[in-house]
Amino acid sequence: MKPDDLFGQVYTLGPRLGAGAFSVVHKCLNKRDGREYAVKIVDKNALVREDRDALDNEIMIMNEISHPNIVQLAEVYRESNIYYLVMELARGGELFERIVERTCYTEDCARELLRLLIVTVQYLHRSSIVHRDLKPENLLLVSEGDDCFIKIADFGFAEHISELDCCNAACGTPQYVSPEILQGRHYTATVDIWSIGVIAFVLMGGYPPFYDREKTELFRKIIRGEFEFLSPFWDHISDDAKDFICCMLVVNPERRHNAAQLLEHRWVQETLSAQSNVH
Ligand code: ADP
Ligand code: MG
Repeated sequence: MKPDDLFGQVYTLGPRLGAGAFSVVHKCLNKRDGREYAVKIVDKNALVREDRDALDNEIMIMNEISHPNIVQLAEVYRESNIYYLVMELARGGELFERIVERTCYTEDCARELLRLLIVTVQYLHRSSIVHRDLKPENLLLVSEGDDCFIKIADFGFAEHISELDCCNAACGTPQYVSPEILQGRHYTATVDIWSIGVIAFVLMGGYPPFYDREKTELFRKIIRGEFEFLSPFWDHISDDAKDFICCMLVVNPERRHNAAQLLEHRWVQETLSAQSNVH
């Protein structure tokens, strides 16, 4: 990229892939290398000061990380007030859509996906970065034909561990947010583990562990860690899988497993071959 290149000179804009609160994401084609990318387009004028800072933070953090299971930022164009974040394209869409299509995942497939997710989050935490908005809308599948190979996207709420602000309670998405964030208490990287616990529950159970139409009631359930493995949804799921989820959905963040402990869990360690020999 030359310093005075415009996004439109280098890329042809393609169809829309998705949208968030302040952004729209499109597919695009690089006219020079002939490769397809995704571009997140943000109108900086529409953002309040805090959100502008968050956008700069998102770019800074994405520039620091490089991992096969994290969407890679390729380049950024800043044109008057429009920002173009050109990223690696994930062709399989959101995990959210895949869950809706499939209703729920088999244990084997959930295990593979969650192991990848935890290994990747361990990389982030070791790099002193907390994602803070892990949920199926922000986990992208690499291809249509594979249900398990995910990439983490959307670093809009990510932060360096040293900069975590205990009063910043507004971040994250209600159903996936940890009790300590909701309560405005001091928190650490384990907030991501709570979110993975919710994701794991949704993947295997096909419904969210914490749900209520009333926000205050939803928050109350989360703060108390009130969830159930309801019949018949969980009847065919192993006790090890349920125990694995229970190691993450622990209200006290000090008792919640970290990534390394989760990777040692019996359910994660269970090999696919041992499973497939059964039938
Ligand atoms: P926001 O911060 O506004 O939520 P995201 O970064 O989550 O924005 O992007 C919004 C949506 O756009 C995602 O949920 C996904 O559907 C789509 N998307 C984002 N990045 C990519 C990508 N690299 N490849 C394919 N789709 C993407
Ligand atoms: Mg998002």
